[in-house]
Amino acid sequence: MNRGSTLKRINLLSAALAIILPAIILTGGCTRYPSGLERVYSELKEQPLGPGASALKGRIIVIDPGHGGYFDGALGPDSLREADVNLGVALYLWGLLKEAGADVHLTRSTDRDFLPPGSTELKDDLQNRMAIADSFNADVFLSIHHNSNLQLDRKKNGIEVYYKSSDTGASLILAGDVMKHLSKNLSIEKAAVKPGGYFVLRRSNASASILGEASYLSNPIVEKKLKLSNKQRLEAESYFLGLIDYFSRGVPRLERTAPEADTVQSPEPLVFRVREVDGIAVDAASAKIRIASKEYNALYLTDSGELYFDLPPFIPNGHYSIEASVSSILGGIGKSKRYDLTVARPPAFIIPINSPYTQSGSIRLKVLDALGEPVLDGTAVSVSMNDKQSIFETVKGIISVEVGSEQPPARLIVNALNVTDTLDVNTVKNEKEIRIKATNRSSGEAIPGTIAITADNIPIRSGSNGEIHLSGEETSGRLIIYAKGYVPALLDTPENVPERGDVLVSLQPLFDGVLFGKRISIDPASADPVGDGTAEEKTSEDLANLELANALEGLLTAAGASVRITRRGAEPISNEERIFKVNSFKSTIAIRLDHVIPTNEQPAPFGILHYPGSKNGMDLARRIAGGLNRFYGKDAFRVNESARPFLLQTHCPACEILLAPIGSSPGKELVSDNRFIRKESFGIFEAIVRYFLNDSSDLASCTIKITKGGNPAAGVPVTINLVFTKTTDKEGRAHFGAVDVGEIVISIGDKEGRSKTVRRTVTPQGNKEITIELR
Ligand SMILES: [Zn+2]
Repeated sequence: MNRGSTLKRINLLSAALAIILPAIILTGGCTRYPSGLERVYSELKEQPLGPGASALKGRIIVIDPGHGGYFDGALGPDSLREADVNLGVALYLWGLLKEAGADVHLTRSTDRDFLPPGSTELKDDLQNRMAIADSFNADVFLSIHHNSNLQLDRKKNGIEVYYKSSDTGASLILAGDVMKHLSKNLSIEKAAVKPGGYFVLRRSNASASILGEASYLSNPIVEKKLKLSNKQRLEAESYFLGLIDYFSRGVPRLERTAPEADTVQSPEPLVFRVREVDGIAVDAASAKIRIASKEYNALYLTDSGELYFDLPPFIPNGHYSIEASVSSILGGIGKSKRYDLTVARPPAFIIPINSPYTQSGSIRLKVLDALGEPVLDGTAVSVSMNDKQSIFETVKGIISVEVGSEQPPARLIVNALNVTDTLDVNTVKNEKEIRIKATNRSSGEAIPGTIAITADNIPIRSGSNGEIHLSGEETSGRLIIYAKGYVPALLDTPENVPERGDVLVSLQPLFDGVLFGKRISIDPASADPVGDGTAEEKTSEDLANLELANALEGLLTAAGASVRITRRGAEPISNEERIFKVNSFKSTIAIRLDHVIPTNEQPAPFGILHYPGSKNGMDLARRIAGGLNRFYGKDAFRVNESARPFLLQTHCPACEILLAPIGSSPGKELVSDNRFIRKESFGIFEAIVRYFLNDSSDLASCTIKITKGGNPAAGVPVTINLVFTKTTDKEGRAHFGAVDVGEIVISIGDKEGRSKTVRRTVTPQGNKEITIELR
């Protein structure tokens, strides 16, 4: 190589730099991110974020200053009592929250314990303490503590915020929000969010429950600081800011409207009124109901702002603990008060189990309700025998009556409520009735679990044969026929809803039913515990990955897929365990989600990885890149090969998505904004749909424009097919990247209570704007 050519090359290089440099300056000096990110960020910034401190207004918050009275808690090297510091912080926080309009309560406001006379048992203290805390039915329960190191390494310091370990929703989010501000305000790098099995957290009935250990009192420097009231105040302010962040997500308020009574004679629909807070819309796909600790998808009706769940008609008589929840589109999880519902269908039949002429000396009788289910345990049954009356209580519907072994009595009069010794079967036949039979349009098979929503917004569920029985008055007005994974049908003309007879409705499976039976694993990555990035960044990353996984799960299950998420909370989980979970689920595809923290040496890797030579993996990766590039900016996501363990060892087509970087602007702001996470979830979801459809079907994109009085209406949630919700931008538009061609059902509703459910047709050309006037 001669000297001349080297010089020439240097010249070429500086010429290239001359072109690149102005471009860098134009994009704000940020070279790490594609320009699309900047655009998305500036768009989001124009829409106001949460409402700030006013979000606390009316929220019920219980603060529990740990220990007190008989219990000192931890002691500092200079004998500072944890109980006193906890109380100091709690009182400051109480004042801040009160000022902001919260409905705030303290378990104690003096140096006291909760021991009954004569007891020194911690358990007694905690039980009484929590009886007080629970009596407020709070939105948030917050127990304030300070840590101590048993190994007596006096230098040890750090922040631990524990969330109720059974609640990886609201409690985990709150713990993350609080932890971020504690870490920032107290300048303590070592900070973590952890699942906590403490009694106070297990017992708490609040919607979100956390316990904060904001620093180590065993550290002499910390102790010295915590003696100062301004340092206690600083800590209180951190909790305060965390609570503002938490409620600024627009935690919806839920109130039970039906059934009104705690005991019902037949399973009625469970209905909750959902109120959006601060105009932050509700995410219809997130509506859930917990019955006796099992979770089910519920139905959220945009029109009426109500969350519905039909108890299965054959649900056994018994007691059920009920709790409903729904998220705002910013990820704030609202919960109803938990309550116990007793289903007690009245006795209808009394049937002998064995013959009355048995020689065993006893007769067992079964008391059943009208459906043939055993009546509620403990139902009183009176038995008169030879003019002697005895009262029995049922267990699993059964009572045992001693009749003596010599001779069965001539007469046995059995009475349970209104039923007396009868085996007659009576059913009331409804004269006016229609039967709706819902079938899969492609296969012709009956769809179990179909729901008819009447004009009064009453959902009526089908039996397992897909038939829904409606009486005459229920059929007046429009009917929506809905089943998970299908495009709902709107029967909105009188001819479509006759007064009696059979109505056949064939439902179009969403996306040709291509997601039915698909098993999709989602692996939300965890931040590297020893890598670059502050504790706050790591928590942000952990939460952002988790929130994206949850949002994606909602969309995929609404479309009929089965989803497994490898990590539900902040629990420690190895790579091996993640891969084991994916493989044991027999996944059809697997996706790892990673909002990365850039290191000093390495800018944030931004792109999608798949295993070398995996045709399906590459196809999946390319489609997701396409889906995300739609809003990140053209060519933002590059597809690359990689032999990382997740790609190498999973048994199905898999890819790793390296998303918006955390750690510097604007990625940092974006990932803490749930609207951005939702955009990402739709981008990935729509790409997955396209991957499975392999372009073989009618799929279109569709833009829905909402106007009021002819003017574009911004910030209106638009729900397609009852489950997919997006909010209109400032031009009044909501864009959906993957919609079935043909009829779709669009529900819209604004803050002022105007709402509409309409049917529109999407043409194969797509892109044609559908304009709906909301008045
Ligand atoms: Zn403590």
